Amino acid sequence: MTNERVIVVGGGIAGLTASALLAHQGVEVILLESHSQTGGCAGTYKRGKYVFDVGATQVAGLEKGGIHERVFRYLQWPKPYAQILDPGCVVDLGDGSRPIQLWHDPIKWEKERNEQFPESERFWSLCSFLHKINWDFAKRDAILPFSNFWDLKQFVNALKPLNGVSGLFSKLSVADLLVICSCHKDQRLKNFLDLQLQLYSQESSARTAALYGATVLQMAQAPLGLWHLQGSMQKLSNALESCLIRDGAQLLLNHKVVNLVSGSNSQSWEIELLTDKGSILKFSANDVIFTLPPQCLLTLMKDELALQKTYRNRLTGLPKPTGAIVFYGAIARHHIGKAYSNHMQLFVEQFGSLFFSISEEGDGRAPRGEVTVIVSAFTSVSEWNDLDGKIYQRQKAKTLTRIISVINSFLNIASENWLHKELATPRSFAKWTGRPQGIVGGLGQTPAAFGPFGLSSRTPFKGLWLCGDSIYPGEGTAGVTQSALMACRQLMANRGENFTLPQ
Ligand SMILES: Cc1cc2nc3c(=O)[nH]c(=O)nc-3n(C[C@H](O)[C@H](O)[C@H](O)COP(=O)(O)OP(=O)(O)OC[C@H]3O[C@@H](n4cnc5c(N)ncnc54)[C@H](O)[C@@H]3O)c2cc1C
Repeated sequence: MTNERVIVVGGGIAGLTASALLAHQGVEVILLESHSQTGGCAGTYKRGKYVFDVGATQVAGLEKGGIHERVFRYLQWPKPYAQILDPGCVVDLGDGSRPIQLWHDPIKWEKERNEQFPESERFWSLCSFLHKINWDFAKRDAILPFSNFWDLKQFVNALKPLNGVSGLFSKLSVADLLVICSCHKDQRLKNFLDLQLQLYSQESSARTAALYGATVLQMAQAPLGLWHLQGSMQKLSNALESCLIRDGAQLLLNHKVVNLVSGSNSQSWEIELLTDKGSILKFSANDVIFTLPPQCLLTLMKDELALQKTYRNRLTGLPKPTGAIVFYGAIARHHIGKAYSNHMQLFVEQFGSLFFSISEEGDGRAPRGEVTVIVSAFTSVSEWNDLDGKIYQRQKAKTLTRIISVINSFLNIASENWLHKELATPRSFAKWTGRPQGIVGGLGQTPAAFGPFGLSSRTPFKGLWLCGDSIYPGEGTAGVTQSALMACRQLMANRGENFTLPQ
């Protein structure tokens, strides 16, 4: 046991990244993961000859200078092989109109959006202007929200004069930008934005912060882009795992954290764990990086939080995140009638947004001539968690039938041709990821909760740091990687060491 040790809780992308970065800095790291594998929401599972991506299917930040690329360059490890998605996604508004193709080439995308949404260029130009300012700011690894002088200094260092202009938009929503640009009467544009923003911010255009929305609406275009990993999503976790193990960190799978208490010398933490064999273990460390949804602290730190009522109230008052239902299927490729692209978003009345990811030939997910089809929708977690056993099973079976029927009609598939089909609900996500009630994604990115107004990675507890998809800049593998970097920089600065990631 050493005071210098860092314990990282949770082996999703945030925890793996934090562990790999710190281990590469020479810090003693123990990564505790309750599951038998890492990856969390960006993990995979096998069913016979198929490999399914559990949650995330697309990766941002793999381009040169993107956050995943920077991390792997710093770790001196090859980034996982991936193909750029072009289009990044095809959006079908379900109203019979031509689907919208999110081309990677910005010129092609400009042409597409001008055809799809005439008179909207003012809106896109404003988004592009805000996005450029935001992106430059984020790339300088700003700390948000700032909670002490060191954070503030990093924040100020990342500022450029134009941030003053973007700051004027900090309390506005994407819908406000539409009004400013006189595009608010274009209902089709609004429908498109509502659908896309739900994927990234879990909110509609009326509730998504303008500064956040302006950026995520341009994720698919060069110089950024969305990528499809060769093999499976697990390749991202595997690469990070290899780095942290190479650099001497310990990865303990099947070790579930059940209690977090600040230690007797008030400087260190005591962490109680349950192993898969049923034994209780105790570890101590000077610092803890906690990557689970912060709502988990309410149970894991019950005693500590009883003394920190303001912080407890902050956690209790966090906006309620959504859950997901996900269909995982497999089928012979020739049985799929039409598919505009391998990544599509469709609006249907009964589910809202349906996001499709179809595997590609030879991408490691299905044998040749077959494909995996993953379709996800948002749902309220209470709708599922409040049901008792039999009713839950009936509801699950009914939802599976309904979602298959929509998929069959969209992709022109005959029902008997499915080779595999199953459904995950918030209860499945709670079991797989340990996320309370199966909440997924982060906190809604409303103007009141985005960036400077969000939950800080710095907590009122000395040596307890947060990262993951509820912390700035938000959900997605790229977002949680950025938040892991932020927590590591704060932790190292607290130890008197300057840690920066090369650009
Ligand atoms: C359906 C769906 C689709 C998505 N699509 C995309 C996409 O296409 N692209 C994208 O970038 N993002 C996508 N996301 C979001 C992305 O997957 C997440 O934001 C990101 O992976 C979260 O990473 P994390 O490390 O913060 O948390 P998690 O992935 O939740 O990792 C937390 C880890 O902690 C472990 N754990 C839990 N409790 C304990 C405990 N008590 N003790 C020890 N370990 C514990 C869990 O097993 C898990 O491994 C999607 C998410 C979902 C659900």
